[in-house]
Amino acid sequence: MENYDVYEYDVLIIGSGGAGLRAAIAAREAGCKVGVVCKSLLGKAHTVMAEGGVAAALANMTNPDGSKEADSWKVHFVDTMKGGAFLNNWRIVEIFAKEAPQRVLELEQYGAVFDRTPEGLIAERPFGGHKYRRLNHVGDRTGLEIIRTLQDKAVGVGINVHMEVTCTRLLKNADRVVGVLGYYRESGRYIVLKAKAVVLATGGWGRMFKYTSNSWEGTGDGLMMAYEAGAELLDMEMIQFHPTGMVWPPGMRGILVTEGVRGEGGVLRNKKGERFMFNPDYMPPLYKGQFADTEEEGARWLEDKQNNRRPPELLPRDVVARAIYREVEAGNGSEHGGVYLDVTHRGAEYIKRKLPSMYEQFHAMGGVDITKEPMEVYPTIHYTMGGIRVEPESCATTVPGLFAAGEVAAGLHGANRLGGNSLSDIIVFGKRAGEAAAAFAASAKQGEIDDTQIEEEQNYLMSPLLSASGENPYTIHQELQENMQKNAMIARTEAGLLEALEKIQELQKRAEHLHVDGDRFFNPGWHAARDIRFMLKTSEVIVRCALERKESRGAQWRLDYREMDNADWGKKNLIASKQEDRVQITAVPLQEMPEELKKLFEEVK
Ligand SMILES: Cc1cc2nc3c(=O)[nH]c(=O)nc-3n(C[C@H](O)[C@H](O)[C@H](O)COP(=O)(O)OP(=O)(O)OC[C@H]3O[C@@H](n4cnc5c(N)ncnc54)[C@H](O)[C@@H]3O)c2cc1C
Repeated sequence: MENYDVYEYDVLIIGSGGAGLRAAIAAREAGCKVGVVCKSLLGKAHTVMAEGGVAAALANMTNPDGSKEADSWKVHFVDTMKGGAFLNNWRIVEIFAKEAPQRVLELEQYGAVFDRTPEGLIAERPFGGHKYRRLNHVGDRTGLEIIRTLQDKAVGVGINVHMEVTCTRLLKNADRVVGVLGYYRESGRYIVLKAKAVVLATGGWGRMFKYTSNSWEGTGDGLMMAYEAGAELLDMEMIQFHPTGMVWPPGMRGILVTEGVRGEGGVLRNKKGERFMFNPDYMPPLYKGQFADTEEEGARWLEDKQNNRRPPELLPRDVVARAIYREVEAGNGSEHGGVYLDVTHRGAEYIKRKLPSMYEQFHAMGGVDITKEPMEVYPTIHYTMGGIRVEPESCATTVPGLFAAGEVAAGLHGANRLGGNSLSDIIVFGKRAGEAAAAFAASAKQGEIDDTQIEEEQNYLMSPLLSASGENPYTIHQELQENMQKNAMIARTEAGLLEALEKIQELQKRAEHLHVDGDRFFNPGWHAARDIRFMLKTSEVIVRCALERKESRGAQWRLDYREMDNADWGKKNLIASKQEDRVQITAVPLQEMPEELKKLFEEVK
C-alpha cells in the first residue's frame, strides 16, 4: 500500500456545487469542523452553469389589475407532483415547496443580487409546468450568482476545501461510512478524508450520453460510490432530456439553450414554419384545457398573464422534448436536424438584457445573432431525476453515516423535473443534509480506517498503469456514448434496451483490461480509466430499470408500452441495489399521500 495524506473532519462534504456548499454552511453553523472536497475548482460545478432561475413561490409578480399572482407552496406542490407524473415522494415535495421561499430569501440575505420587479421585489419568470411566474432569477446567469453567494458565505463561516481531488471509494467500518479515499488530480497522490458523517453532493451523470449539457465531472462517481457502499438507488431510468440543446455547430451539440428563452416568449417552429406545439396530439390529457389553443392567445399571454393561458411551449420538458423528437422523425426538422426556436419578436434590447448568455453563446460559438434569426435546437441529456434514495427529513441514505443531497439524490422530481426546481432543491435539501450530518456527527466517534480497503482501491486504480497492454478508456467511453445515445435515449424499446445492455456488458468485460501510458502525474487518461468504470455501472443500472418499467411516464417513453399505467406501474418506484456482483431491482409501492395533500389538487384547480 502506498502512503496517503490524512485529514479528519466531523462532517465531510463531497462536492462543492450548491448542495455541497449549502450543506457545508449548515454543518459549520451547527459547530462542526467541516471539510469540502471537489473534483474541480471550488464552485466550478453544474450549479454555476444554471441559467433560467430558482423556483420558489414568492408570489412577487403583479397582474395587470394590480393584484398579486395567487402563487403559494400549495400550487408549487401540485405543479411539481404533476410535472413528475406522480412518481415523486410526496413528503419530499411538501418539504421542498414549503421551504424553498425561505431558502431563496436567505440567499438574498447572504448577498445574492436578483433581478427586480418595479416594486423592488425579486423578479420571477415563467417556466414550463409552473402555473405562475416562479423562477427567481439573475438574467440567465442565476447559478453563477448562487454559487458566488454560497461560496462567500461558506468561506466566511470557515470551511476547509480540498480542490481538484477525485474521490473514488467510500471507506466503511462495519456498516458505517467513516471516510473516503481520493487522489489529487495533478500529482496522483492519494488522500484519505476521515469523517464522522459524510454528505454526498456530487451532482448528476450525463456523460455516458453523446450529447449532453453536463460538464466532464458528471460521470456518476458519487452515485456509484454510494451504490458500492450499499446504498439504494431510486428510479434510475428517469433521465431528463431537455428539449432545447444546441445542434450547430457540431462541436457545440448538446449545450443547453435555457428554457428561459421560452419563458421570455420564444416560440418553437418546424421547417414549414408551423408552431407544432399547438398540435393537439402533443397535449397530454393531464394538461388539456390549461394552455392557449391559438397563437393569438399565446401572444396575448405575454402582456396579460392573468387573463390568458400560457402557450404550449411551456408544457413540462418531457412533453416538449417528445414533440420535437416526433417532428424531426416526421421529416419536419431544420437544416441541421433540430427545430427552430425564435425569440426575435422580443426585440434586441430586451433579449440582450434578459438572455445575455444565450445571446453571447450563439454569437460566439455559432455565428448566429438570436436577436435577428432563430436558433436551431434538439433535445439534450440534461438532468438525472433518479439517484440515491434518501429519507425526506434528513437526507439520510440507507447506509449509516452517509447523507445525500442535490442532483445525486432522488425522490423530489419523480419522472420529470420542472425547470428551476433543482436550484431550490439544492438549497432546501443541502441545508437539511448538513444539519442532519452534523447531528449524526455529534453523537458519533471518528471511525477506524481499514487499510485493506485502501489497498484494494489503490490496486484497482493502478491496474491500467501497470498492465503491459489493454483497452483504451477513451475508446470505451466513446462506444458507450454511441450505445446509450442510440438505445437508451428519449424513445425506448425493449429491443433497443436489450441491445444497450448487451453492449454495456461487453464494454464492462473489456474495461477489466484497461491500459494507460505514463504515470499518475497529471494524467487525464488515468482519470478516464476510473471514470469509465463508474459510467459503465451507472449505465447498466439505468438500462436495467428502463427495461423493468413497462410503461411510458415522464422521461421514460417506451414505444412498446406507450400508455401511462396508473393501475400498476404508476404506483411503484424502482429500487436498485448491489447484491454481490449483481444489480438487484425491486419494485416497491409508493407511499399513500395523506388526505390533506390530496385535497390540494382540487383546491388548486
Ligand atoms: C447548463 C445547465 C443549466 C441549468 N439551469 C438550471 C436552472 O436554470 N434552474 C435549475 O433549477 N437547474 C438548472 N440546472 C440544473 C442544476 O444546475 C443542477 O441540477 C444543480 O446545480 C446540481 O447541483 P449539485 O450541487 O447537486 O451538483 P453540482 O453543482 O453538479 O456539483 C457537483 C460537485 O460534485 C463534485 N464531484 C463530482 N464527482 C466528484 C468526485 N468523484 N470527487 C469529488 N468531487 C466530485 C464536482 O466537482 C462538483 O463540485 C442546469 C444545469 C445545467 C448543466
